[in-house]
Amino acid sequence: MYTLEHRELQEGEFWREIPVFAKVSQNEFLDYKWQIKNSISDLIKLAETIKGVVSDDFIVAISKGFHFAPMNVRVTPYLLSLIDWNDPWNDPIRKQFIPVSTQLIEDHPMLTLDSLHEQKDAPVSGLTHRYIDKALFLTVNACPVYCRFCTRSYAIGADTETVKKVDLYLNSKHWENAFQYIESRPELEDVVISGGDTYNLSAEALKKIGFRLLQMPNIQRIRFATKGLAVMPMKILSDEKWLDALTEVFLLGRKLHKQVAIHTHFNNAKEITMISKRAMDKLFERGITIRNQSVLLRGVNDTYEKMQLLVKRLSYINVQPYYVFQHDMVKGVEDLRTCVKTAIEIEKNVRGVTAGFNTPTFVLDAPGGGGKRCIHSYEYYNRETGVSVYTAPSVKPGKYFMYFDPFHSLSEEIRQAWRDQKKRQQMCLDAIYHSGVGACSRLA
Ligand SMILES: *Cc1c(COP(=O)(O)O)cnc(C)c1O
Ligand code: SF4
Repeated sequence: MYTLEHRELQEGEFWREIPVFAKVSQNEFLDYKWQIKNSISDLIKLAETIKGVVSDDFIVAISKGFHFAPMNVRVTPYLLSLIDWNDPWNDPIRKQFIPVSTQLIEDHPMLTLDSLHEQKDAPVSGLTHRYIDKALFLTVNACPVYCRFCTRSYAIGADTETVKKVDLYLNSKHWENAFQYIESRPELEDVVISGGDTYNLSAEALKKIGFRLLQMPNIQRIRFATKGLAVMPMKILSDEKWLDALTEVFLLGRKLHKQVAIHTHFNNAKEITMISKRAMDKLFERGITIRNQSVLLRGVNDTYEKMQLLVKRLSYINVQPYYVFQHDMVKGVEDLRTCVKTAIEIEKNVRGVTAGFNTPTFVLDAPGGGGKRCIHSYEYYNRETGVSVYTAPSVKPGKYFMYFDPFHSLSEEIRQAWRDQKKRQQMCLDAIYHSGVGACSRLA
């Protein structure tokens, strides 16, 4: 049996169902400036926008949720219109962007804020050089929206009531330091230009960064990382200056025989509408490669049916599903994490539904800086205590890295054990012993 649901993209003027957007014309809605101007980043405005379409207890739950969140809230009118307000509690888009207090769960005691140790592997502020031939360059600390589960909640967006952000000093002086470092390392061939979100770079900045990197003899590949395509495709349709700047970078790359690509971030098939397709078609016509990196999120895409639909729909709009990430061990969003075993099951059910080159690799970015590892490649996995152990011989030889399944997936007895300092250490030691990796030098 097959389904063609992946080709059924939402169209029409769906935003008009929200009372405050009822009079918004198609021209206005497709204008990225209108989207930016009407994006919602404070509780009062959000409550006003959805008043009358949701119950009062939902409003109470989001006002409490705002206080605990490690990330600021910011959503575009486009995303708000895609949320099913008849059932906001379970909506996959709402879950990613708007915290509700009643769904927050106790954090696993092993969670941290910068779980990937990006700052530790940074030779200059904002540039992480962990893998030999590629580097991650953070250029800007703002995004068109803020995801509750952001890995960089330690730095992205403004301070919240619970998190004071690290200042990475992402300005043109910093860019110059990063450029000089990249130029000085002949082994570096590949730069991921990220943030924040490169949608928030001006056309001039995008060109400046792209040109400068492509002109370095050692650089062969660059990619711009942006969630923008998923949350505000209107920019591709209405910001000609920005699209032309991107195209110029792409064309320079082509002339120099170097690859320029965009990496974007869709998590649920509902986020892909007819508007997204029009934007992707426009990029496709210009020959620009787009790949997608999803995060596996509880209640958003953690069944194989949902993941299959996402993969097929991405492929349909010519976006290559590249990675699905196991949720990083960041604080404050435990409700969104899934177990390693969930990722393994979903992967098995996704492989085989479509072209191999459109089948994402399921990876775990090893906490503590081990880099991305295939989810299946653990040395040991205890499904009861939820500890998995990975190694990364090409990145950090001789070290091992542990991941901990979310608290809600464990039995009450095991949860109690994690709350106890001694038993906690014992469970880690056990896992390392069974993985046969050797010395326990990294156990703090
Ligand atoms: C993800 C990542 C990269 C790019 O890795 P790919 O597997 O090539 O997508 C580079 N540097 C850092 C620090 C990263 O986290
Ligand atoms: S768009 Fe990316 S960097 Fe920005 S908040 Fe979301 S996950 Fe974080």
